[in-house]
Amino acid sequence: MRASVIVVAGGRSARLGGEVPKQLRLVGGRSLLDRSISPFDAIEAIHEIIVVLPPELMSPPPECLNRFRTTVRIVSGGDRRQDSVALGVDAVAASSDIVLIHDAARPFCTPELAQRILDAAGESGAAIAALAAQDTVKEGDLKSGVAVVARTLPRERMFLAQTPQGFTRPVLQEAIDVGRAGGLGTDEAALAEQAGYPVRLVQGDPRNIKITTEADLALAEEMTARSEPVVQIRVGLGYDLHRLVDGRPLILAGVTIPSDRRLLGHSDADVVCHAVTDAILGAANAGDIGEHFPDDDVRWRNASSIDLLGRATALIQDRGFGVNNVDVVVITDWPKIRDHAEAMRQCLAGALCVSPDVVAIKGKTSEGVGPVGRGEAIAVHAVALVRRDSRALC
Ligand code: MG
Repeated sequence: MRASVIVVAGGRSARLGGEVPKQLRLVGGRSLLDRSISPFDAIEAIHEIIVVLPPELMSPPPECLNRFRTTVRIVSGGDRRQDSVALGVDAVAASSDIVLIHDAARPFCTPELAQRILDAAGESGAAIAALAAQDTVKEGDLKSGVAVVARTLPRERMFLAQTPQGFTRPVLQEAIDVGRAGGLGTDEAALAEQAGYPVRLVQGDPRNIKITTEADLALAEEMTARSEPVVQIRVGLGYDLHRLVDGRPLILAGVTIPSDRRLLGHSDADVVCHAVTDAILGAANAGDIGEHFPDDDVRWRNASSIDLLGRATALIQDRGFGVNNVDVVVITDWPKIRDHAEAMRQCLAGALCVSPDVVAIKGKTSEGVGPVGRGEAIAVHAVALVRRDSRALC
């Protein structure tokens, strides 16, 4: 069995204003058109996707149409929906046995639903996705300009039609012919009914909503935010070097190391905290340590750098980021940091608001080479991974 799908995107969104055509409005960062096509691209039997576009969107066609593995062909639409579908049907390959029709205004169809319609259409000739009415359904009437109930319809027999709708080739062709002969239908099933074919009702999907108004778009945005959380992961790099001089105290990663030498600097010169601070700020693209805590600002004279790291953590948290993990290399021939690494990890983890499990500290010597090797300085490299989990914060 070979199948084609016609995605109808020919409308001009009379009920949804705005500069961008409805089919190209974004939901969760992807256009309605892109989302409405995607489920069909995942189905083996579907060998072509025919997209019916309004003439003004034909050249250049929307970029998203290039990303599908299935062949995509575009067709210029007509005035009414049924005209657009008819033009799409004209373009279907001769080798297709079944044709599915789907609205670009329904971005949440699933491959499972599409497959159900495909199977049922193959068995029965015509099948549509539909939901049993949950509310009592009234037929309305206008009496002196006031809407009144004409009658109450039997709810157990009421279904709300969705797309996709599927047809074998001969059934669809007859339905299209009925339309071309003057028949009217707001969906293809209506024309197939008029052509005398039974149309099978297949369990639809309550999430397969149709986007008609701004409120629908807002709902669709909420649905994607819940089901498709966006995780942004970013890496940052930090480096620092401070000169060792006589005196006390020597502070590394917030831990005081027994020593009669100390690091020289405006703050407490904690070279580990400085490198890690730059790494997390860099990952969040939130500036650097010199910008936030300048060394010519009296507020930061003799400042505790582990406190500055805590402030930098709060700063990236304000931008929606949290630290995922940090890896630090401390290059020092003296002092050895092995005995202090655990305390340093604990201290950094506290400032970074993470578990010590995700903070690594490694000591390295420079084999007596250069200023670090001669015990004149300590240098530190740090990398940090930060993550942001919510679409709302993008
Ligand atoms: Mg520094």
